[in-house]
Amino acid sequence: MTALGFYNGQFVQLDSLQVPIEERGHQFGDGVYEYVQIYGGRPFLLQAHLKRLERSLVAIGIPNPYSAEEWTQLINEAVRRSGESEAAVYWQVTRGVAPRVHVFSNTLRPMVSLTVYPRVGQESTHEMSLLAWPDERWTHVWVKTINLLPNILAKEMAKRNGANEALLVREGRVTEGGSSNVWFVFKQTLYTAPANRYILNGITRQFVLKLAAQLNISVAEEPVDWQRVPDADEVFVTSSSAEVTGVSKILVDRQVEGALHSVPPGIPGTLLPELKNIRTVWTGTCPGTVTQRLQQAFSEQLQQLRDAVPAELL
Ligand code: PMP
Repeated sequence: MTALGFYNGQFVQLDSLQVPIEERGHQFGDGVYEYVQIYGGRPFLLQAHLKRLERSLVAIGIPNPYSAEEWTQLINEAVRRSGESEAAVYWQVTRGVAPRVHVFSNTLRPMVSLTVYPRVGQESTHEMSLLAWPDERWTHVWVKTINLLPNILAKEMAKRNGANEALLVREGRVTEGGSSNVWFVFKQTLYTAPANRYILNGITRQFVLKLAAQLNISVAEEPVDWQRVPDADEVFVTSSSAEVTGVSKILVDRQVEGALHSVPPGIPGTLLPELKNIRTVWTGTCPGTVTQRLQQAFSEQLQQLRDAVPAELL
């Protein structure tokens, strides 16, 4: 299948899309987004994603163009048209089209665009390595804005240096990944950063917290100090696309390490520097035993979703 698109109220082929030049999403990054995975033709945790979308929209003052029911219908219809039962749906809402001035008028009509892609990845079988990187994003990371420049630069640095994800650290504390939440196990207790303004409260994170409670795994929603990372027993990441993925290695560059604690003075020549002094901070069993228990519970939930009786047969 080729990817399917939806823009401005119409289902379209991706290559036929034409976004107006003055659309504020691409001129200002003035919008928010969501992403869900589809298992057996059904979106996973869609209502939670829709609630977070609503919070993001309220945060930046864009009216929600659809009700939760309308979103659900649209997403199900897009999946149906795609003909894919294992897929990923990305959608964004931007403030709309207007002459390029920073301030916005209240008469703007929000623009919705959506894509359905077939999903190739298998569930949680691969492992990840992380590159520690300074978290220099704004302080409203909880809003799922389409402004992802710091995230993409951090992930690009990870990729250039042999890792698959960035491990973001702010003022000496781990916040999250470039596009995932990060978890540590210390002596059988799970640690993950609290859902404050410095992380995006992942829908997968919230789900894994529930699974941990069901499995009687103790959890501390506390930030982990960068200095403590070498002592972790296990590390894993969660996101809608990564699900629960074990981490096998954490890297850092010696020149970058200071910036994990405080923002350096001065302006660097590039935000994509060549790293020459990378060291391994942590390696460990991947997946560890706690990670495996959560992966198992997670894939059971996905299987239940796939096996669910279709609504039309009830
Ligand atoms: N943090 C960041 C910065 C992300 O981009 C994502 C994925 N969009 C997550 C965490 C995980 O969120 P979710 O579990 O809702 O996919």
